Amino acid sequence: MLWFRRDLRLRDLPALLTAARRSPRALALYVLDDTLLRPAGKPRLDFLHGCLRTLSGQLDGRLLVVRGDPVREVPRVAEAVEASSVHVSTDTGPYGRRRDGAVAAALAKRGVEWVETGSPYAVTPGRVRKADGEPYRVFTPFYRAWLRHGWRGPADSSASTVEWIEPPLRGESVADGPDPLFEPGEAAAMRVWERFLDERLDDYGTDRDRPDRPGTTLLSPYLRWGCVHPRTLLADLPDGAEALRSELAWREFHADVLWHRPETARRNYDERFDRMRHDSGPGADEAFRQWREGRTGFPIVDAGMRQLLAEGWMHNRVRMIVASFLVKDLHLPWWWGARHFMRHLVDGDLASNQLNWQWVAGSGTDAAPYFRVFNPTTQGRKFDPDGDYVRRYVAELRAVPGRAVHEPVKLDGGCPEGYPPPMVDHAEERQEALARYGAVQDTS
Ligand code: FAD
Repeated sequence: MLWFRRDLRLRDLPALLTAARRSPRALALYVLDDTLLRPAGKPRLDFLHGCLRTLSGQLDGRLLVVRGDPVREVPRVAEAVEASSVHVSTDTGPYGRRRDGAVAAALAKRGVEWVETGSPYAVTPGRVRKADGEPYRVFTPFYRAWLRHGWRGPADSSASTVEWIEPPLRGESVADGPDPLFEPGEAAAMRVWERFLDERLDDYGTDRDRPDRPGTTLLSPYLRWGCVHPRTLLADLPDGAEALRSELAWREFHADVLWHRPETARRNYDERFDRMRHDSGPGADEAFRQWREGRTGFPIVDAGMRQLLAEGWMHNRVRMIVASFLVKDLHLPWWWGARHFMRHLVDGDLASNQLNWQWVAGSGTDAAPYFRVFNPTTQGRKFDPDGDYVRRYVAELRAVPGRAVHEPVKLDGGCPEGYPPPMVDHAEERQEALARYGAVQDTS
């Protein structure tokens, strides 16, 4: 039996190769697990359902989808098909590790073998270590060691000749559902990738920071659900494509950090930040609402937050800007923002999300120095120089031409109707953020 989780594809899937070697017949299973899916909002769930639909199509409809606790459901299904082994790709997240331990134990009681092959990463988290066996805490040396460690070429699994067993139980139907904003599935992932290689790879190094341009791969939802394996991407990259290789390595680095320190999904990696003073009470709740709705009066922040609500996705540069604004201009805890992102992002991934938030907040691994506070207006002018990105998402500013869109209060006649003035004075809040940071340092 092959239990799909974060690997909704047939190409480059080592667990499928292992399963096929063991038996010419296999049942394909997916479990809708509410513990994992509860924090996910509509964009991520629609995308998941779309991916399950396309995977089911690839398996001639022979994908059994059940809902429930995997610790009960997986042994139940294994028993129904008299499976001798259950094959998976390793899940290295905190919940996945606990769950898999419990599922493997429940299967063992019934004499069913648990077999893990591969993971959603080029190098499985936990493997890249310093000479003394300690994990890396800083990206650049991790990156060098990760490159030295290397990885196998893509597994030739799509040619595996497994006969997929007709599901013996009635499962959940995935036949219908709304069309997600990102086209779901493995074939779509490969089309997105091939188009990127043809049209955008050459300019990635310069365009990747420009939210007004389609400069990045847009592959994060596909990597999140395993419609494509990073090894497939890495194998296609020409030698010079260092910028993209290193972005893919950031994904691996954060997964590695979370593997070693699972508590950092909720807690500061740098414990000195436990002493950081955050705003609270009705004023903080109201500020948080304005941020969530994209009504801060800072156009690049508002454009990003509205893009998130509309599309379930946000450009990386803008993710950094809105995160910095929440933490350093509004003085709210990073985990408030991280929770909101996890609810709305189609690519919401615990390791990448929580640890990028911590990176911006200054509490993470080789974090952006806390005293480097993004000025949202300057960032907007620099990375959206003609204002096109802002105008795309902030309807009230659509009539404002050029880069003037980044400072609407300075327009003749002030802010256009319906658009709020800046909710804070950035220069003052910057000083406040630095003072609070200083207090954290002093008490260490
Ligand atoms: P590309 O630039 O084309 O990069 C290719 C791939 O590399 C991405 O798909 C992603 O898998 C990986 N990658 C790129 N940058 C990073 C990074 N900084 N950290 C980890 N992996 C990276 N990414 C997620 O996949 N899920 C999240 O939940 C998530 N939350 C984030 C929260 C914050 C506050 C910040 C600042 C960043 C977050 N990121 C997250 C990282 C990054 O913003 C997205 O991966 C990227 O915007 C996705 O677009 P892309 O696929 O076009 O990226």
